[in-house]
Amino acid sequence: MKRPYNFSAGPAALPETVLQRAAAEMLDWQGSGMSVMEMSHRGKHFSQICDEAEADLRELLAIPDDYAALFMQGGGLAENAIVPMNLIGLREAQAADFVLSGSWAVKSYKEARRYGNVAVAATAEQATEINGVQQAPWTYMPDPSTWKVRPESSYLHICSNETIGGVEFPDWPDLASLGAPDTVLSIDASSHILSRPMDVTRAGVVFAGAQKNIGPAGLTIVIVRKDLLGKALPICPSAFDYAIVAENDSRYNTPPTYAIYIAGLVFKWLKEQGGLAGMEALNTAKARALYDYIDSSSFYRNPVEPSVRSRMNVPFILHDDALNAAFLKEADAAGLLQLKGHKSVGGMRASIYNAMPMEGIQALIAFMKSFEQSHG
Ligand code: PMP
Repeated sequence: MKRPYNFSAGPAALPETVLQRAAAEMLDWQGSGMSVMEMSHRGKHFSQICDEAEADLRELLAIPDDYAALFMQGGGLAENAIVPMNLIGLREAQAADFVLSGSWAVKSYKEARRYGNVAVAATAEQATEINGVQQAPWTYMPDPSTWKVRPESSYLHICSNETIGGVEFPDWPDLASLGAPDTVLSIDASSHILSRPMDVTRAGVVFAGAQKNIGPAGLTIVIVRKDLLGKALPICPSAFDYAIVAENDSRYNTPPTYAIYIAGLVFKWLKEQGGLAGMEALNTAKARALYDYIDSSSFYRNPVEPSVRSRMNVPFILHDDALNAAFLKEADAAGLLQLKGHKSVGGMRASIYNAMPMEGIQALIAFMKSFEQSHG
């Protein structure tokens, strides 16, 4: 049976071979007589699964030994509180700065205000002109040379891929060049982690909910520099204190064991695809094909400033909103699922994470062309 192509922003499609392997191992994981869901998180079988998943994640992202790679819970939104509880106290001012690039960064900023002295370093909330083109709010990235980072801040937070707006940082900023050499970067990479090589050593902490590019919801990946640990605010729950989680190899409390197992299978699949360099080549080609088609059409439009268009989340607006319902219904019938855009942006959104093959992009473009012909 050929499965439909699933363009969900998350929880999102997983590689089919991973799902098949998980199905085959459901009742009896490798002769253990148990499903992974039924194993002690401290037993030898799960320890092997967890240690291998961590080793493969470290290999894929080239995470050095002075960084911890943690498997936690709570998703991206919990990290919006967990990061300040762990890191805002790094320096005396108990301060953190935020680049507001879209809904997810704004959520991080609002949550952090409960924990310290928080300020906006830059925002894309106003319309602006870039290269002679008028850009609507949240469709561009504020120019890093204009960011105001306070040198006493413990960290600067960015969301490196805005899942709703479809805006992606091509690169991570260098804080020394922004006049804040002792401030570290906090990065919400939830919706593009593992889509391309990323130099984690440029960040103090990188976090990501798993449910887009990694595995099932319920697992959060946290990559954090070890020398930043141990300064959590006294109110930080022990189970969310990075130092305690790291000391206990992500098994201080019971971690989301099944989600870690699936993530481990996805990491092995990624290695078979040529690692993150291989994924980047494929993801670049997929995104280019879709944007090129959208740009060539007067029926569809993507509002994002071209230099920061996301390779993972491609919002597109139909020239007439009245056609949205028909588009979604016909797309569904054609085996193209979950294309409805976020209500704050409207129109459609194609999320094309690692597990989306090029054939899925070609099928989407063919459908968009035929819809344009029949409704244009
Ligand atoms: N950050 C980003 C970039 C996201 O896309 C999302 C979820 N769409 C979140 C944070 C929130 O994640 P969660 O629902 O796992 O809390």
